[in-house]
Amino acid sequence: MTSPVWHPFTQHGLNEPVPLVTHAGGAILHTADGRRVIDAISSWWVTTHGHCHPAIMAAIRAQAEKLDQLIFAGWTHEPAETLARDLTAMMPPALTKVFFSDSGSTSVEVALKMALGHFANRGEDRSRIIVMEGSYHGDTIGGMSVGARGVFNKSYAPLLFDVDVIPFPERGKEAQTMAALEQYCAQSPRPAALIVEPMILGAGGMRIYLPGVLRAMRDICQYFGVLFIADEVMTGWGRTGGLLACDWAQIVPDLLCLSKGLTGGSLPLAVTLATEEIFASHLSEDRSRMFFHSSSYTANPIACAAAVANLAIWRDEPVLERIDRLVLRQTDLSAPLRSKVSNLRQIGTIVAMELEDRTGSYMSALGPQLMAFFRERDVLLRPLGNTVYVMPPYSITDDDLARVYAVIDEAIALVANR
Ligand code: PMP
Repeated sequence: MTSPVWHPFTQHGLNEPVPLVTHAGGAILHTADGRRVIDAISSWWVTTHGHCHPAIMAAIRAQAEKLDQLIFAGWTHEPAETLARDLTAMMPPALTKVFFSDSGSTSVEVALKMALGHFANRGEDRSRIIVMEGSYHGDTIGGMSVGARGVFNKSYAPLLFDVDVIPFPERGKEAQTMAALEQYCAQSPRPAALIVEPMILGAGGMRIYLPGVLRAMRDICQYFGVLFIADEVMTGWGRTGGLLACDWAQIVPDLLCLSKGLTGGSLPLAVTLATEEIFASHLSEDRSRMFFHSSSYTANPIACAAAVANLAIWRDEPVLERIDRLVLRQTDLSAPLRSKVSNLRQIGTIVAMELEDRTGSYMSALGPQLMAFFRERDVLLRPLGNTVYVMPPYSITDDDLARVYAVIDEAIALVANR
């Protein structure tokens, strides 16, 4: 019997197998047919410490006994209050306010709306958003509008708003990016904000740029009074080596989007952190100046409890040491592949490379073929076109990580001999 489930980013017409997972632990997924699958992409980049971390699961269970859900407009609960306090203590001090939502995309929508609301409340006519070429910020209308245009959103193009696009800062061509940014920032009326994925574009092909570029973009925005939005939905929570990718350039954004690893990857939750200045522009006795955004599950107590437990893990366990070790293991295991692929690169726990492919686009047949190849070998990898990347949970064992690279090596040989 066919399933009524309609899966995301899945062409059901191809009838590819959809494995049924029954339980998971660490970096391992167990399927109904008894397979042990290595989750080498942290289940779409969310699982940081590993699946079913005992402390997070215990926090979820305990909270589920007390309070399941609460309207968050005008009411509050302890997990949200604790989480907001713990987050502001852990994140850069300039980010004093925490607005909750439930996915990476909505945290981006919130940031964009806050930027426009900020200027509207100050009586300034500023609405344009500057974006970086090739970025991904989610699949909602706002997220798609500030993200790269392509086959993913062609059909919905009439719904998307116009943005100013600066070129990706390729090595040696960074000056062009800076010049374009300066030009857009100097426009009249001034743009409202720049939104970027700090240090690495994720879904746009795991493209890494230099910390100096991030720093310079921040400086230019500061100079022109354009708000700087850091979308750390993928890069946050240790992915690039430190807690935030912004740490590479020692910068603090005006608005910071976090999700995925916020709950250790266990439940959907997101936050948009804002400066006191952005909060203050909405602060008034005039109700028409409030921040007009809500969703039913804003700050769901169980998800907040999971996030509180995640932050405790960051405080109490040697997470950064674990990450440092994973970074070195990734470097060692990927080194022998360097001569067999193009552009092998690494930032923190993320390693990416291109396998030879004549068409080179996301829609090329190679991506799905590779995915099937890996799946048949019980490794969960989901290449972006011909870009294969590894982004494992931090608790992956040495043997399992070695197996991931052995399977990639096998795939490289197969593609080379086609
Ligand atoms: N921004 C970035 C940088 C992302 O990588 C993603 C998800 N891959 C999103 C936003 C959207 O997050 P979500 O899928 O949770 O809506």
